[in-house]
Amino acid sequence: RAKSEGRSTYHFFETGMDADLQQRRSIEAGLRLALQREELRLMFQPLLGLKENRVTCVEALLRWDHEGRTISPVEFIPIAEETGLIVAIGEWVLREACKTAATWPGEIRVAVNLSPVQFKSRDLLGLVKSALSEARIPATRLELEITESLLLAENDTNLKVLHDLRAMGVRISMDDFGTGYSSLSYLRSFPFDKIKIDRSFMRDLTSRGDSQAIIKAVIGLGQSLGMSTTAEGVETEEQLEMVRAQGASEVQGFLFSPPLAPAALANLLHSEAVSTQVKSKKAS
Ligand code: C2E
Ligand code: MG
Ligand code: MG
Ligand code: MG
Repeated sequence: RAKSEGRSTYHFFETGMDADLQQRRSIEAGLRLALQREELRLMFQPLLGLKENRVTCVEALLRWDHEGRTISPVEFIPIAEETGLIVAIGEWVLREACKTAATWPGEIRVAVNLSPVQFKSRDLLGLVKSALSEARIPATRLELEITESLLLAENDTNLKVLHDLRAMGVRISMDDFGTGYSSLSYLRSFPFDKIKIDRSFMRDLTSRGDSQAIIKAVIGLGQSLGMSTTAEGVETEEQLEMVRAQGASEVQGFLFSPPLAPAALANLLHSEAVSTQVKSKKAS
């Protein structure tokens, strides 16, 4: 009896593994075709400059429409990285984001997330130059967001690419600051233009006093290092007022706007541009 139970448990476990593996294989196979099937698209979330009181930057966020549902990048980016598919996908994201940014009014910048894998396997500098010239936007309108995992390897080649990008006028942001093992030491290894404080600190703001202390310290750190700071995941007025009082440069979050489809984002930017124009005419 015990033996047969054990067997069936084992069998169940095995089937469970198969299902996981199958699911993964099917995501992999689907992802391989996603580009040519045009199943990938970008959403755009504005970042609000608190001093400027307008949208200063817009982050491109990838979505995958597959078999009737939209798959989150949290689900498929890791698989795209492991399979190397992120190289082609990331290239598409960069070109598409720059082309879209070319249609926006004013000097609004576009922020693109980069995977560490993209640094390893391609002439990233050449790709960035080509994406910019194809879209006819200056390098100063592009921000690239990297996470500390890129610098984890203490890889000199990666650092050189970052320096070269920055020399072109591209801004480099450290994304999800505070989530890794030694974020602080990475601030010393590269002169980032921007620190994006991970949204987990915002989430815990009201329940945990230490989160508030950490946000305050990171904003102060940014100020003394000459790096601007963005508070990610601002969802409430209370969070907004707290980070404003502490001197954050920018906020990003559902309070101001969720990620939007390109047309909706363009509407928001154009209506904002018009209202700013009206305001400045009134002022003069
Ligand atoms: P991220 O770069 O930190 O992007 C911010 C994430 O926070 C986005 O999730 C955004 O929708 C979400 N978010 C923004 N405001 C709020 C808020 O107020 N509350 C909450 N709860 N969430 C908020 P999303 O779009 O699901 O992207 C998740 C992650 O996937 C990104 O985190 C980024 O690491 C990665 N990712 C997205 N697009 C790309 C891409 O094109 N390339 C690469 N390599 N990674 C990407
Ligand atoms: Mg990001
Ligand atoms: Mg982030
Ligand atoms: Mg994040």
